[in-house]
Amino acid sequence: MRNEKGSLIRPVPLPDSASRPVVTPLSTSVVYASDTPDMLDQQYEGGLQGYTYSREGHPNADVVGGLIDRMEGAPNPGVVTSSGMAAVAAVLMGITQTGDHVIGGNQLYGRSLRLMAEDLPRMGVSTSMVDPGDVDAVRAAIRPTTKLILVETVSNPTLRVADIEGLATLCREKGVLLVVDNTFTTPRAFKPFDWGADIVIHSITKLLAGHSDVMLGYVAARDEAINTRLRIFSVTTGMTPSPWDSWMAERGMLSFDLRFDRAQATAMRLAEHLGGLEGVKRVIYPSRDDHPDQARAQALLKGQFCNMVSFELDGGRAEANAFTRGAEGLNFAPTLGDVGTTISHPASSSHRALTPEKRTELGMSEGFFRVSVGLEDPDTLCAVFSQAIAACKV
Ligand SMILES: *Cc1c(COP(=O)(O)O)cnc(C)c1O
Repeated sequence: MRNEKGSLIRPVPLPDSASRPVVTPLSTSVVYASDTPDMLDQQYEGGLQGYTYSREGHPNADVVGGLIDRMEGAPNPGVVTSSGMAAVAAVLMGITQTGDHVIGGNQLYGRSLRLMAEDLPRMGVSTSMVDPGDVDAVRAAIRPTTKLILVETVSNPTLRVADIEGLATLCREKGVLLVVDNTFTTPRAFKPFDWGADIVIHSITKLLAGHSDVMLGYVAARDEAINTRLRIFSVTTGMTPSPWDSWMAERGMLSFDLRFDRAQATAMRLAEHLGGLEGVKRVIYPSRDDHPDQARAQALLKGQFCNMVSFELDGGRAEANAFTRGAEGLNFAPTLGDVGTTISHPASSSHRALTPEKRTELGMSEGFFRVSVGLEDPDTLCAVFSQAIAACKV
């Protein structure tokens, strides 16, 4: 009987129905009207559950948040934000203050690195970047003022695996918050809260929504006060997601488990296939015997790994460009997690700003590619790579 009263200009109440829709309705209303002043009072005082204004929260965001809470085993209801970067910013800016120190993994997502390198220092928060696979190095970087450490479980694009277990122990010992950006691994392969993380971040934009038509983020904290702080900061700074993106994300997430399992099985298969091809110098996938973090990946990721495969062509920019032109049907795009396979070339895109020497140090030559494996038929996909690599000898 909501909407019973209507208004002068919107006089028609919603039709009553004894049955309910199986699909979550899209709630585009920014404003929520209260039937009586008394009810609004009770809403603000917490006695009555209800929405007031969509920046403060709305049903579609809460449904998406609830789904991820369940997948992650989140101790408190997470906050859905307008992008993954909004979630990262909510953590880095919402719970730090002038004088604090923050540590970041040295191969974080580019914008996260930028936020740490350029924006936090401007506000009096100092930052250090450290290899998250080296707990001794992280220990050495910790100061009395260190507030948090932000890491990604599997790094992009070199697919190194962070020592989450060692970091969690260190963080507990030092009273530092461990923040894990779980975008790559997803809760299907890894649940950071089970391994001692204090805060979990997602770019829902990538694998969770999965169709490259939604931009959203998520963050949840173990500590209730920090969780509330993150929610308030995201509302105050207007990081609220749109109902439409939230609705689309929910739709995408209904098939997430199936998509992830398929994409990661194909990724494993493609890694094996690439390893046997002439013209491929190196293949990087965490399940491989030649991966430096294979044992750690086995322990943390429970045999699920990820849908990303990186490899290095034998050659320079000319061979790389020839491969890209020859990879028919694969989108050349620097994002990941789409239903279709995408290939990206870090030297000319995500890591373009680095010097060639720095890229070499990070293991990214001119022949280096990152593949985000999608849902194509695995045989067909392997054939496309065989063909494009065979044709790229210049
Ligand atoms: C893409 C990405 C982000 C940022 O998410 P957006 O939704 O693009 O803002 C953060 N972390 C990782 C690991 C990502 O891949």
